[in-house]
Amino acid sequence: MDKSSSILPWQKASWEAIEKLLSTDKLPQALLLYGMEGLGKSQFAHYLAKSKLCLQNSLAPCEDCRSCHLFQVSTHPDFFHLALMDSNQSIKIQAVREVNSAICKKPQLSPCQIVIIDDADAMTMSAANSLLKILEDPPGNVTFILVSNQLYRLLPTIRSRCSKFSFQSPDREIALEWLEKNNLTKPGTELLEQCLETPLYLKTLVEHDYPSLQKGLVSDLTALCHERSNAISIAAVWQQHPTMMLLDTLFSWVLDVIKLAFIGDSVLLKNETMREILTEWSKNCRQDRLHDYLLKIIKLRALANEKANINLQLSLEVLLLGWPVSSQKRS
Ligand SMILES: [Zn+2]
Repeated sequence: MDKSSSILPWQKASWEAIEKLLSTDKLPQALLLYGMEGLGKSQFAHYLAKSKLCLQNSLAPCEDCRSCHLFQVSTHPDFFHLALMDSNQSIKIQAVREVNSAICKKPQLSPCQIVIIDDADAMTMSAANSLLKILEDPPGNVTFILVSNQLYRLLPTIRSRCSKFSFQSPDREIALEWLEKNNLTKPGTELLEQCLETPLYLKTLVEHDYPSLQKGLVSDLTALCHERSNAISIAAVWQQHPTMMLLDTLFSWVLDVIKLAFIGDSVLLKNETMREILTEWSKNCRQDRLHDYLLKIIKLRALANEKANINLQLSLEVLLLGWPVSSQKRS
């Protein structure tokens, strides 16, 4: 998706607020867009950047001027974008310094310069402190747009320097309409229901062919149980999957297995379409280990979410070695 192409239907109120500020030339020099992942905050930030840089001086990008064209092909000389290149890394001080030295010079094409910092909460402490120094006395014609899924992880001093814009989940109807329009309603009602609050996350799942990923994980776990494969080889494959997606999937499966093991067949599952395999697992698992296993996933998920420097291969091997299901009933 072209990130700067449009405002999403559930962002209209936020955009109207921005338009008011743009039309009165009162856009703050530092904005912080925050809310859950999957709401299109980065897309919103790019649209705003393109509008502000546009040479037509209108409230929306004209899509026709030199600035809009260069923005479109990611070569705008007055636009700077910092983001995580890998979900397990952080934004380093060097990147912030490079932006700082660039914005010390005058804009080359547009009347201003824009810096977007996606995943702003993933800055290292030194990077955050370096940014804070810039935000304390920013050059006159630079606007900073910080984007964060985890507001609490940002330095309070950075938060207080920014005008905050909260992004909320869309109404069910609005989300469904958008998903249908973008041909994203196919993956099955279950997946859809899980993503209605964060529609863009469903897009990510579809892009990663989530149903195939699920199939692959089940096949790996079955091979592990039957000793046709081992934790080391499977972890090497799993490392290639998006970590949070992988851990969220395992989490929801184990939660369903716990429900089946302790409540019984009548329980409603989050992964209803996988009832057969989940029931089989619930019958062949070490029930006494299930809750501990869930905690292990939560802990690893927290570390991955904090972008901590973890040895993913090793962590996944440990997780796989502790998989509480066997090929036959043990408990
Ligand atoms: Zn333009």
